[in-house]
Amino acid sequence: MSRLAGQVAIVTGGARGIGRGIVERFLAEGATVMIADLDEDGAPIEAALGRHALYRRLDVTRADDWTAAFDALSDRCGRIDILVNNAGTSHGGSIEAASEADWRFVMDTNALSVFLGCQAAVKAMRATGGAIVNIASARGQRTGAAQCAYSASKAAVLSLTESVALHCGELGLPIRCNAICPGVIDTPLMRGHAAKQSPGDPAAAIAAMTAMGIVGRLGTPHEIGDAAVFLASAEAAFVTGAVLNVDGGFRIRDF
Ligand code: NDP
Repeated sequence: MSRLAGQVAIVTGGARGIGRGIVERFLAEGATVMIADLDEDGAPIEAALGRHALYRRLDVTRADDWTAAFDALSDRCGRIDILVNNAGTSHGGSIEAASEADWRFVMDTNALSVFLGCQAAVKAMRATGGAIVNIASARGQRTGAAQCAYSASKAAVLSLTESVALHCGELGLPIRCNAICPGVIDTPLMRGHAAKQSPGDPAAAIAAMTAMGIVGRLGTPHEIGDAAVFLASAEAAFVTGAVLNVDGGFRIRDF
């Protein structure tokens, strides 16, 4: 039996990287998935993923985009069961290097986005129930000098996850809200970050990032997809307000 059979999901940032891994795992488990991303043309993505994949352009920092996407999916499928707030940026910078504009960009893309997504999801799911999965980061629990805005934005996601779970619990709404903290996952964002950190030798930056965990390799988007399937499925019916670390041991590593 497919673990998400008949479920209707939205995955933001689903065109590439971790989001794409989550979309592929959701489709394999029987869900219908709206892939929400910045690409103007979603036809190639829909063609690659099959008839249960729908693409929609959604800028996660824009409240009106959220409303339009939820309305469209709800009209088409009758309900929405799962939201994965995945879209994000890794834009870095220390307290001296980062500008006010950097801070605002990171906070809007990584934290305001999740706030808007959770608002839309709670509104859509309050009668029928559902699951929200927020993609935070191991850096939201353990920061670094060069991560000031990024870590703060992901710590905000973790706190917001708990607040949404508590709100739904207090009102008796059948909505669970959980977070995943990925470690270093092999995606375009991670490779772009490595190229910026070590322009002449990105492989050295990737090796250094790999060494931040204890498993000895990078994680894969499908491994985050597997964790998201669990949290979205009935197997996690008693799990809410939780953080699932899928980080190759990054958080507990003794540097
Ligand atoms: P990628 O950049 O590879 O993919 C992110 C996707 O989100 C892209 O398709 C991107 O579009 C899209 N996106 C960016 N901004 C917006 C926006 N405003 N509205 C809608 N879509 C948007 O990133 P990853 O897959 O690596 O990361 C996914 C999430 O996982 C992020 O939240 C990230 O912080 C988190 N994470 C990643 C880790 C890693 O090692 N990769 C580690 C820990 C957490 P476009 O390409 O057009 O910008």
